[in-house]
Amino acid sequence: MPESRCLCGDHVWRVDEPLQLLHHCHCSYCRKHQGSAYTTIGAVSREGFSWISQGEAIDYASSPDLRRRSCARCGSPIPGEPNASGETFVVAGPLEGDPGSRPGAHIFAASKAPWFPLEDGLPAFDAYPPGYDADVHPTPASPDAAGAGIRGSCLCGAVRFVIEGEPIVARHCHCLRCRRARGALHASNLVVPIDGVRFTSGADRVREFKLPDARFFTQAFCADCGSPAPRVDTGRGFAVVPMGSLDDDPGVQPSEHIWVGSRAAWYDIPGDLPQHLEGPPA
Ligand SMILES: [Zn+2]
Ligand SMILES: [Zn+2]
Ligand SMILES: [Zn+2]
Repeated sequence: MPESRCLCGDHVWRVDEPLQLLHHCHCSYCRKHQGSAYTTIGAVSREGFSWISQGEAIDYASSPDLRRRSCARCGSPIPGEPNASGETFVVAGPLEGDPGSRPGAHIFAASKAPWFPLEDGLPAFDAYPPGYDADVHPTPASPDAAGAGIRGSCLCGAVRFVIEGEPIVARHCHCLRCRRARGALHASNLVVPIDGVRFTSGADRVREFKLPDARFFTQAFCADCGSPAPRVDTGRGFAVVPMGSLDDDPGVQPSEHIWVGSRAAWYDIPGDLPQHLEGPPA
């Protein structure tokens, strides 16, 4: 398979065998760590995985038995360290090339986002699939009191915010930048007015990486856990909120898929939302 990399290019890796155990996970830990609707992840043996280059990483223990890694410069989720059996779990979103297998199931469907229906007909399990024995960790509650707006937070809880404005639009974006930045097959973003996001904590923990060759594309993320964070885009006059970080139902669902022309070619987009090859129609 061709090499894959994070948004800034500090981390480059190669997968040389079909991904095993490929699945979609809807647990709140995965959703927050990628700011996405769900993660798609599979395992590779020691022989099948290699790093071409590695930069600095944010290494966050989201539970006693699981560490999640992101690039410290750009915030993109990156493959983890090999586990005790030598397997590396690889995020499938930024893969360039075919993983050689297809996702077999949705797991942790009981904690899936209310704004993301499952429409592909794959088996969906409330938590782990039957026969897989591992601890199930509860969904962390937002530390902020309910009622003041739509709450959101990063995985470690340092960055917290409330959406106070009326959302403008929600979309799934399949461009390669989003796939690298989120580690997911597509980003799911809520666009709100520029003054529609108020940080209730950790605004000083938000780091930003602007892609040098892009006009606007900038990833905002928590410096402590790597989770994507809302970004106030003064250049374009709105704020973009990664929907996976929402603790409350925003009451709107994504209404279209954009940049479908650069989606992961092996991923068939389920459902009947409009699909645009490039950006949203004017
Ligand atoms: Zn990077
Ligand atoms: Zn998960
Ligand atoms: Zn955090």
